[in-house]
Amino acid sequence: MKRMLSGIKPTGRVTLGNYIGAIKPFVSYQDEYEMFIFIANLHSMTIYQEPKELRQNTKDLIALYIAAGLDPEKVTLFLQSDVLEHAQLGWYLGCMVSMGELSRMTQYKDKASKNEVIGAGIFNYPSLMNADILMYDPDYVPVGEDQKQHVELCRDVAEKFNSRYSETFKLPEPLIAKVGGRIMDLQNPTKKMSKSDEAGKGTIYILDDINVSKKKIKSAVTDSDGYIHYDPENKPGISNLLEIYSIISERSIDDIEKQYDGKGYGEFKTDLAEIVGAELEKIQARYKEITTGSYLDDVLEAGANKARPIARKKLAKVERKIGITIKK
Ligand code: ATP
Ligand code: MG
Repeated sequence: MKRMLSGIKPTGRVTLGNYIGAIKPFVSYQDEYEMFIFIANLHSMTIYQEPKELRQNTKDLIALYIAAGLDPEKVTLFLQSDVLEHAQLGWYLGCMVSMGELSRMTQYKDKASKNEVIGAGIFNYPSLMNADILMYDPDYVPVGEDQKQHVELCRDVAEKFNSRYSETFKLPEPLIAKVGGRIMDLQNPTKKMSKSDEAGKGTIYILDDINVSKKKIKSAVTDSDGYIHYDPENKPGISNLLEIYSIISERSIDDIEKQYDGKGYGEFKTDLAEIVGAELEKIQARYKEITTGSYLDDVLEAGANKARPIARKKLAKVERKIGITIKK
């Protein structure tokens, strides 16, 4: 069985973009791959998190994975901070990457241009991410378009390590869905929907009131052409809605275009609002069931117990190779 790994930061309320780009695909992969999924809470610290909110967002993320259909018996679902080896390997790998390489990361450049004061963590977080990935030798790392560059950097660092110290890490492949890899803000369809952005009309949150979400879809920015056609460059709003429609309904974009041939945006948006609303209702009902009692704590404990031995073994191997371990 091929191995797959991915993580999400508990940096805000989970959005429809996260669901479509990261959570829903995992659910479909879980029977085919050996999956490692972690809540990247160490990464969330790159930007100040209000402690109470961080706690809630972390619990919600775990619960949402499960509510979306992920089976903790099949996948290894764990908290990054529960496996201490991540931070330690992250340090070693951070020492193997240049300032120049890190400065070229678009996510860093974007964040750096927006905030007046930024923490050093934002600059160096790809090193921790490299550790998260390389620790488990995954074949694939399913990511949204925004993370592709980081997986490429990860491969570069792994190659550098392997050639300097001998074969240690497997080079991971990014796996980017053709559709849904980059869901856009509904009010500004040239900007990615992100959970850490200011709450706005353009972001749908999975745990939001269903009617609020429906309204957001109905008031999504489109264009004045009046026909439903997939063309991200010239019709970003409609194309984004078509992607959302396609992923949630599990139908092809072609098929949906045919259905709405000659029909107006109003009808299309009303139908999409119903489809998304029904999906959110299903997830929210399951979320309510699993957030009572100690179920989630048990899931995390079991997940960390599965991940830890693998991480320990890999870190020990690295430390032997680089000369940190003095015993032969
Ligand atoms: P932040 O604003 O804090 O970076 P985010 O919404 O971008 O939050 P991440 O934790 O960075 O979320 O990413 C989690 C996963 O969701 C990653 O695999 C990422 O590629 C994917 N993802 C994030 N935003 C989108 C989006 N708009 N469309 C599709 N996938 C997305
Ligand atoms: Mg992001």
